[in-house]
Amino acid sequence: MDKKYCAYICAGCGIGEGLDLEALTEVVTGEMSMECKTHECLCGADGRALIEKDVAGGINTVVVGACSPRVMTQEFDFGKDKITVRANLREQVVWSEVKPAAGEEPHSDAVEFLQETASDYMRMACTRAKKTELPEAFQLEVINKTILVMGGGLAGLTAAKEAAAAGYKVILTEKEEKLGGKALGWRKSFPTKAPWTDLEENPIHSLISAVQSDNRITIKTGMEVARITGSPGDFGISFKAAGIKTEWDAPAKVTVDEADLIEKGKMENPNEGLNKYTAINPDAVKVGAVVLATGWKPADVSQYEHLGYGKVKNVVTNAEFEKMAKEGKVPANVAFIQSPGGKDDDKDFPYCNSVTSMVALKQAQYVCEDNAAGKAYILYQHMRTPGHMELFYKQAQNNDGIFMTKGNVMKVEENGGALTVSVEDTLLGENITLSVDMVVLAAGMEPTTLHEKSINLAYRQGPGFNDLELFDGYADSHFICFPYETRRTGVYACGGVRKAETMEEAVDDATGAALKAIQCIESVDRGVSVHPRSGDATYPEFFMQRCTQCKRCTEECPFGALDDDEKGTPLPNPTRCRRCGTCMGACPERIIGFKDYNIDLIGSMIKAIEVPEDDEDRLRILVLVCENDAYPAIDMAGMKRNGISHMVRFIPVRCLGSVNMAWIRDALSAGLDGAMLLGCTYGDDYQCHFVKGSEIANKRMENIGDTLSTLGLEPERCAANQVAITDYDKIPQIINDFVDQIVEMGPNPFKGF
Ligand code: SF4
Ligand code: SF4
Repeated sequence: MDKKYCAYICAGCGIGEGLDLEALTEVVTGEMSMECKTHECLCGADGRALIEKDVAGGINTVVVGACSPRVMTQEFDFGKDKITVRANLREQVVWSEVKPAAGEEPHSDAVEFLQETASDYMRMACTRAKKTELPEAFQLEVINKTILVMGGGLAGLTAAKEAAAAGYKVILTEKEEKLGGKALGWRKSFPTKAPWTDLEENPIHSLISAVQSDNRITIKTGMEVARITGSPGDFGISFKAAGIKTEWDAPAKVTVDEADLIEKGKMENPNEGLNKYTAINPDAVKVGAVVLATGWKPADVSQYEHLGYGKVKNVVTNAEFEKMAKEGKVPANVAFIQSPGGKDDDKDFPYCNSVTSMVALKQAQYVCEDNAAGKAYILYQHMRTPGHMELFYKQAQNNDGIFMTKGNVMKVEENGGALTVSVEDTLLGENITLSVDMVVLAAGMEPTTLHEKSINLAYRQGPGFNDLELFDGYADSHFICFPYETRRTGVYACGGVRKAETMEEAVDDATGAALKAIQCIESVDRGVSVHPRSGDATYPEFFMQRCTQCKRCTEECPFGALDDDEKGTPLPNPTRCRRCGTCMGACPERIIGFKDYNIDLIGSMIKAIEVPEDDEDRLRILVLVCENDAYPAIDMAGMKRNGISHMVRFIPVRCLGSVNMAWIRDALSAGLDGAMLLGCTYGDDYQCHFVKGSEIANKRMENIGDTLSTLGLEPERCAANQVAITDYDKIPQIINDFVDQIVEMGPNPFKGF
């Protein structure tokens, strides 16, 4: 592209009053050799007309010095064939000015400080515009738009039905011979409409009929997926008869004791003969995306010996009780134990949530329906009935046959033909003993991915999703921001495999996952990324001649987008890629980059920051900010005029995982006084939009200290912080404290070299 540049600076929103725009224009025209115009309101009709006229006259690379790039995106969009770069002069310059504390005089250089900051942001934006290239979307030669749904229970059936209704062909696999899954055993479902008190017919049978009569859906019962090769838009699927193992199945884990038994011939080796089965139609079926609806299993409750499951007759799980209720009459006196009690005190059973509370209310109702004088006792530590289900709960409270109390269940014992349940610390203020016919334990819903960690993906990073332990076995990659998305692009989870949920929630969930699958296929067709960088037409490009086959990129990619050959050379799969740039951050050779985001581009922006010499009031601190949460939080801090030090220069990054340590090293070598990474929380309650990027960056930063020591610099000049989007009141303090620390350390001795 033959670039024709022009920069535009807005005087609105306080920018004109806070800055000397004439001087700022001179920086652009002089130092950056770029034409520059100012306007009193660039986002208004006149301002936009000014730019559009220039664009019509041949300008194709536009620099806008105005508000944050997060706002007015449509106003400053001049088409896919134009490059637009924004300098955040409003939220992060004029609105971020530190107000003097009460009783203090403003710093005598305050106006100059603001002007210097604005000049640096214009220098960086112009540099970015010069280094940015227009992307050429990656397009598959052939795309297949069929959707594979794994699992023929309520969620899978709904996903299949919805995807077909949207016009897509569907292949539905179910390992059992019949469709319907666990819902076949449910007698009734929860209320879905006012007055929110009446149980409803189980919808599973009508759903099965709808799916069976839809000619866009191919049903494969008694079958499982043997292997998934390829990538979104071009997955190759092979099937196998349910229950058999193929060469691709992960070997079963064998304990030391079991190995001993196998060796003595007292136990069959579960891994023997793994290779003898051949998949049916290997790689014969092409699909564009996969919906994972393999469901859940009731959690094991036999570990709670004082409750007697597996030993005492008539102690059953909620799932077993439901089946009993579906098949016939339930007993007249039943205790529903919601929390294990005993030494676990007020803890719940594992994987319990609102669903198990509501199931107990529903099943208590069966006791009263089936027996004129039926009595149901619900013994809980926590009852959770979200939303309208509160009315369902109230209705149960008003039912004379249902008795509920908070309490600590100490023991379940056989007593003649009956069962005795001892409960302490009840709401009645006394210990009670109940005599009942049956005890029902609230077994939680464990996702199938907790047990079967693999879905047989033929990916370099393994056949399943990484680090499932970290997420309690759930396949979802980000519960808050990106529901249904797993850590493998093109595979979307719904139903019990994603979270413990009711039948009604599973229907919503499956519809969402089907839509995500469609969104993925259509994005791939357009050659752009899916969430969270929806519509991004860039993708990582590798300068392979300089690759040392170190495998860092392939190992660190959070989404398994990179396979490799025997030598370790990366083999990119662009449609699996989420464009996070973690591979770029990992590469020691600095040979991975995007058209609008690469090592040279950000490195050049850092170099564009003017570093004054020998002036302790003018230290320069680089803050590389994750654009997902931290950057908007800084904008909000600006909107609230929380005040951020004038010594700081922000550069947004796609994810902290994309930060190449070369940027930090080069910044400090060039005389900047400190560097900070500001990104999302990682660990158990991680918020990183690219799952692992923030954690990986923090690990890399732990090693930067050694590098700085070899340069003769204090490791404390670098820091990494985790923040949330809601931390706009805390972020200025975090940054300003770091600045104070650097000021105390004094200027970088490399200044001027
Ligand atoms: S690390 Fe991110 S940008 Fe790189 S290949 Fe993986 S998903 Fe794509
Ligand atoms: S990180 Fe860089 S050098 Fe290492 S394998 Fe990947 S592309 Fe090659």
